[in-house]
Amino acid sequence: MPEHIATPSRTNEILRRHGFRFKKSLGQNFLTNPKILANIVAAGAVTAADDVIEIGPGIGALTEFLATAAHQVLALEVDPRLLPVLAETLAPYPNTTVVEGDVLKADLATLIATHFDGQHAIKVVANLPYYITTPILMHLIDTPIAFASITVMMQKEVAARLTAQPNSKDYGSLSIGVQQHMDVAVAFTVSRTAFVPAPNVDSAIVTLTRRAEPLVTVRDQAAFDKLVRGSFVARRKTLWNNLINLYGKDEATKARLTTALAQVGVAPSARAEQLTISQFAALAEALAAPAR
Ligand code: SAM
Repeated sequence: MPEHIATPSRTNEILRRHGFRFKKSLGQNFLTNPKILANIVAAGAVTAADDVIEIGPGIGALTEFLATAAHQVLALEVDPRLLPVLAETLAPYPNTTVVEGDVLKADLATLIATHFDGQHAIKVVANLPYYITTPILMHLIDTPIAFASITVMMQKEVAARLTAQPNSKDYGSLSIGVQQHMDVAVAFTVSRTAFVPAPNVDSAIVTLTRRAEPLVTVRDQAAFDKLVRGSFVARRKTLWNNLINLYGKDEATKARLTTALAQVGVAPSARAEQLTISQFAALAEALAAPAR
């Protein structure tokens, strides 16, 4: 049995032999620490009862660990230069399939129907390309696919935003957008030195699982999302200033905003970061009510 793909010596040997040059624009920072990879698989609680989707296998460092633990692994890699490398490194793992593609454009439901047997829980486990962490997360949360869990490595600062609570600097529209639908937990953090090349940031492994019911149910999700995003546009300004920039400065709009804020008991001088997700939901409902 050769040593793990992720050991520094084997990773360097593979990269050298294939003449591989990292593309920074694709967020290519490969993990070279087998112990951390084992911990990621443990954080995802991956077992033979699971089929796993991996985003961005790189040279297969994490894929190898997933293949050993899971029933089937489907890995989606956007960089075609990595396909011949993966064909070689993952050859000992017949329960692994690599598909070339962009996770944001791929038809995940069709891929799942084609490659998985429908008899296993489906989990996502990945060391994400950091330049598109948020779009990938929102894409995974918005899809109707019932993932049993999503366990992903991301920039530590983004993990802090995902788990942030009101009245903290990290709390914002991302915290609300994710927490509305998902339970979020940071499993552990990882130093930048565990990667080649080392990124400029430290990382965290986050596990997301869908809540049985959303934290708040809103009648018009698009209107709620618009309110939340608009409220945080200028964080240091008052909620009132953000709201009139969002909805309009005319007298009728101001009257409608004043009424809605009073109705939900939020002072116009409050900052967005002071509002709980339930207060945002109540405000969205109050704003949707027909003017009297
Ligand atoms: N899984 C490997 C590891 O842990 O060492 C590599 C992780 S590296 C941080 C991110 C990987 O995602 C790279 O292999 C990169 O080419 C790939 N990638 C970047 N953008 C992608 C996209 N839109 N869809 C799929 N893969 C992507």
